[in-house]
Amino acid sequence: MTKNHHEIIICGAGMIGLTFALLMAEKKIKVCIVDKNDKESLLKQQDNRTTAISQGSYRIFRKLGIWKKLKNEFQSINQIFVSEGLGSHDINFDHKNLKEGPLGFIVNNKLIKRTLLNEVSKSKYISFKYCTEIFNINNEDIDNSFIETKNVKLYFRMLVAADGRFSRTRYHANIKYYFHDYQQTAFVFNISHTKKHHGVALERFFPTGPLAILPVKNLKINQSSVVWTVDSGVANDDVFKINFRKEFEKKYNNFFGKLISLSEIKKYPLNVFSCYDIFKRNVVLIGDACQAIHPIAGQGFNLGLRDAFILAKTLEKSKELGLEPFNLSLMKSYENMRIIDKTLLVNATHNLNGLFSGSGEFKSLLRKAGLRIFAQSTFLKNQSMLFAMGLRSLEA
Ligand SMILES: Cc1cc2nc3c(=O)[nH]c(=O)nc-3n(C[C@H](O)[C@H](O)[C@H](O)COP(=O)(O)OP(=O)(O)OC[C@H]3O[C@@H](n4cnc5c(N)ncnc54)[C@H](O)[C@@H]3O)c2cc1C
Repeated sequence: MTKNHHEIIICGAGMIGLTFALLMAEKKIKVCIVDKNDKESLLKQQDNRTTAISQGSYRIFRKLGIWKKLKNEFQSINQIFVSEGLGSHDINFDHKNLKEGPLGFIVNNKLIKRTLLNEVSKSKYISFKYCTEIFNINNEDIDNSFIETKNVKLYFRMLVAADGRFSRTRYHANIKYYFHDYQQTAFVFNISHTKKHHGVALERFFPTGPLAILPVKNLKINQSSVVWTVDSGVANDDVFKINFRKEFEKKYNNFFGKLISLSEIKKYPLNVFSCYDIFKRNVVLIGDACQAIHPIAGQGFNLGLRDAFILAKTLEKSKELGLEPFNLSLMKSYENMRIIDKTLLVNATHNLNGLFSGSGEFKSLLRKAGLRIFAQSTFLKNQSMLFAMGLRSLEA
């Protein structure tokens, strides 16, 4: 392969594109990653979010050797309390009910990206083209497929799109998708509080949107990370903006003791993108480029990681069989393996948000009944914990 000819090009060096590259390198398969940013800005990204990493994703990271590089900078989730508004804690998910370890781990996004980038830059199987934005894709002829960038044409046998929610690769490959704007905004920030969190996460559902408070590892202060979803009408209201802390305190209700401080606040408009096709010719979509879901259940990254993991296994099979990276039968089998997991989570998060946001007597009754049924059924609780932990295989 020459400098501009690659078997596999990955577009996007987010958490999914980088992990996919490492999974391929583990199988001794060469890849080239392109990203529109330079290395400096990828390292300095203004992402203040944390990610709830499921047990399943943790196991993938551990096998790849990524987990130990996080050097204990993660917080285990031991329990999750779920309630309607400030009601008593209707459901308590406890890791002790299953013998699978913590329910998940909270890790800072900047740390994950820095660690992945470091590992990628050490691998002899991965080349990197920074400041390279895809302007067009030409793959009418699979044997002469290339992407156009500002300065150069890059030839590929397979293009893996991992360029996120607003994927341009998806657009250039003409892959259609379902889109819905939730008209909601997620406010993301950290808080410090007087009491210890003991690895407890909290999810409170309000008619204006859900509030998630996630435990953060910090040896100096008691800290949690907040994802507070609010209807965009409310979020843009001047009175709400002025009273932000007061409004938050009402919903937080001293759960971990008195609120001490709030960090800088970042806003994320919420929407869903879900592709009708996972691949088209020799372009395949993974992570948010394929399905970007509501963060209500903290599952977007975990779902994307499963895409990356199973696609890497599929491409390993192509290699073992002496086939081209793009092989129609193997890609169809990849699609079959992923379709249930994707469809289920896109629909579940969409419906959960619909049910748990919004006012109205009927919805409120439904929510309360639903939570009560759940709370009383150990079977339902354990099964949903296993799904959320990424330990239930949804491969067809
Ligand atoms: C508020 C919030 C909280 C969340 N919390 C959780 C959670 O707790 N757990 C969980 O599992 N998920 C969570 N998610 C979802 C998770 O953040 C995403 O699923 C994940 O970050 C997607 O990663 P990605 O690599 O697919 O895409 P991105 O992170 O969007 O990466 C895309 C990459 O592609 C590059 N790129 C874009 N366009 C181009 C182009 N034209 N040419 C070249 N390069 C390009 C970008 O520079 C970037 O590096 C949350 C999401 C939100 C909004």
